[in-house]
Amino acid sequence: NPSTGRFTVPFIEGDGVGPEISKSVKDIFKAAQVPVDWEYCDVSPLLINGLTTIPEPAVQQINKHKIALKGPLATPIGKGHRSLNLTLRKTFGLFANVRPARSIRGYETTYKNVDLVLIRENTEGEYSGIEHVVAPGVVQSIKLITRDASERVIRYAYEYARAIGRPRLVVVHKSTIQKLADGLFVNIAKELAPEFPDIKLETELIDNTVLNVVRDPPSYTDAVTVCPNLYGDILSDLNSGLSAGSLGLTPSANIGNEVSIFEAVHGSAPDIAGQNKANPTALLLSSCMMLNYMGLESYSNKIENAILNTIASGSENRTGDLAGTATTSSFTESVIKNL
Ligand code: NAD
Repeated sequence: NPSTGRFTVPFIEGDGVGPEISKSVKDIFKAAQVPVDWEYCDVSPLLINGLTTIPEPAVQQINKHKIALKGPLATPIGKGHRSLNLTLRKTFGLFANVRPARSIRGYETTYKNVDLVLIRENTEGEYSGIEHVVAPGVVQSIKLITRDASERVIRYAYEYARAIGRPRLVVVHKSTIQKLADGLFVNIAKELAPEFPDIKLETELIDNTVLNVVRDPPSYTDAVTVCPNLYGDILSDLNSGLSAGSLGLTPSANIGNEVSIFEAVHGSAPDIAGQNKANPTALLLSSCMMLNYMGLESYSNKIENAILNTIASGSENRTGDLAGTATTSSFTESVIKNL
């Protein structure tokens, strides 16, 4: 709202631990006086003509504000629902999934100085949902790669690398085997290279990438990695494991042409839901990515520093997933004190 300088952001609080970690974000934003007004957003899925759909009011709300923050959504099992996360990506054309994975200051893990940025194609590849039984005992699953979707995500990755000052773009693929599909992805990256003379393009086979990143994560600190959907799914969890050892710390952004949705990487954690045990850091860091995207960097820096200082201040201020004794609410209070 240009007259008040305030932003309205739809908030999908999600299932399981979603409401608990969402409360933490709301409390911290309020204490930090962030100029954001939350709007409750209900995406409880509807099954229409065998297709999972999001209620129209939620679609309108998100299209209107062009942005949303999202907690984890549980995928209902056995009701014929497609994953709601996949539905959201399709509905809003969220073509790029941006996953930074950074070592957390003051919390020691096996690997030090991890600072990885991965961009995953978010709409096609093995996630196109085209599978059929050819004959009893024989199934076919189609990996769909298109020029349009590949170009969109690779161009975004070049631009992202430029924007965050990383001079290298690493395209991860297996075009020795998937000659046409991954071959197209790699060729598009090469075609676009002349538009980005300041970014050095490298292509790397996925098997080499997993070996290299486990052996020497800091060797990717000057790079942004981009890859087709399934490789990105797997590599990004590997990166999370290397950086923090906990999914409770990893944020992400789903970027589309019009709409962008920011979310924690982890699921609804049903095993600890309702017990005041969840670590809200991943959703908080996702909300910081959202603030950066909105041009509210000063609030983002303030909140991120308070989170990192809290985690570094000792096990009594860390939640159970980081071998600490804090609850969701006591962690939140400590972050507020550190703002
Ligand atoms: P999960 O991420 O929910 O849980 C895996 C493990 O990590 C559990 O032990 C859990 O307690 C722990 N964990 C996760 N988040 C945590 C946090 N913030 N703090 C502390 N510990 C945390 O994965 P799952 O059990 O495979 O999935 C549960 C449900 O979530 C499923 O219905 C799945 O479809 C859904 N899911 C949703 C998303 C999403 O919305 N983006 C992502 C993954 C899974």
